[in-house]
Amino acid sequence: MHAEIALLPGDGIGPEVTAAAVSVLRSVARRHGHDFAFPEYDVGGIAIDRHGVPLPEATLQGCRRADAVLLGAVGGPKWSDPNAKVRPEQGLLALRKGLGLFANLRPVRPHPAALDASPIKPHLLTGVDIVVVRELTGGIYFGEKTRTADAASDLCSYSVVEIERVLRSAFRLARLRRGYLVSVDKANVLETSRLWRDVAARIGREEFPDVRLEHQLVDSMAMHLLARPREYDVIVTENMFGDILTDEASMLAGSLGLLPSASLGDGKAGLYEPIHGSAPDIAGKGIANPYATILSCALLLRHSLELHEEADCIERAVDGALNAQAFTGDLARGGRGLSTAAAAQAVIEQLQAHCYVAELRD
Ligand code: NAD
Repeated sequence: MHAEIALLPGDGIGPEVTAAAVSVLRSVARRHGHDFAFPEYDVGGIAIDRHGVPLPEATLQGCRRADAVLLGAVGGPKWSDPNAKVRPEQGLLALRKGLGLFANLRPVRPHPAALDASPIKPHLLTGVDIVVVRELTGGIYFGEKTRTADAASDLCSYSVVEIERVLRSAFRLARLRRGYLVSVDKANVLETSRLWRDVAARIGREEFPDVRLEHQLVDSMAMHLLARPREYDVIVTENMFGDILTDEASMLAGSLGLLPSASLGDGKAGLYEPIHGSAPDIAGKGIANPYATILSCALLLRHSLELHEEADCIERAVDGALNAQAFTGDLARGGRGLSTAAAAQAVIEQLQAHCYVAELRD
């Protein structure tokens, strides 16, 4: 297959982790007979420096033309003045909006090698495999805001269409996995949550009768996520609840450097990025953990290119590299960690053992 993957390295460690991920994608492409092109564009701080805006028009158009977008990270101390008119994160928000992306997927699958790095007891984490689907474009973050000298308000609103589309994404994902979806809301208090719950129940009944749907209040979900994370599979929720629950869920995995994400819309287009930021404290040293970005490539292959075997192959290879203790400094616990490039090379070597299709062809 020929595919175009727009590459947005961004700032800080972004260029280092995306370069490592591209080396893995090239290796997968060679093994499976695909032809991937990686046109590169500026976003974030580097785009402000070069073009005066965090999302140049050429970047947006390039991303629209591409089959998928791989992003490193944006931001850093150089652009962090809160009073600045243009800020790197605006580039990310504008990109999601410009590509019509409304569902953010964050898989959390703690690897045995990183269990000790999590503040949660290891026996609770074994076998955890969760995807949180967060609505990205509506809710209280985007509602009308007011401020007077002695009061302020933020409006939380959702339309049926906004709820339906993210729920359909979550139901489809649940169908591909264990056929179990938990929809999280605060329907005992909020009207938007009551609408959310009604829409979830209708879509489940009418379109996905094969998927088991449960409703959970967000406060109890926050407890269950830590107390019995193994019981969950796909969790779907609105923007602010998702923002909080995904950060909580990331603690299950131990290291920020292991968590990928995907932002998806109606079609196959998607934006794939590690959940960590630009890590200015280690940028330029060649020691950043590339696994979250490499695992984001697995999501890209699965959701935008429908290359399921290739996606599984990358995930197995990262597991293999971690099993072989190919650790960067953040995972090495005091020991000396591998460089970013050496960790990517460890994954490439593991592809040999874990790309079953290629083995048959060899
Ligand atoms: P961060 O995720 O960049 O770093 C937090 C800590 O984790 C740091 O100590 C860092 O060294 C470490 N870390 C992060 N990723 C790592 C990796 N791959 N390997 C090894 N260690 C890693 O968060 P922060 O320090 O709060 O933010 C730094 C900058 O990144 C800020 O400008 C922030 O706005 C931006 N940011 C961007 C995104 C994004 O692009 N999506 C997300 C979060 C933060």
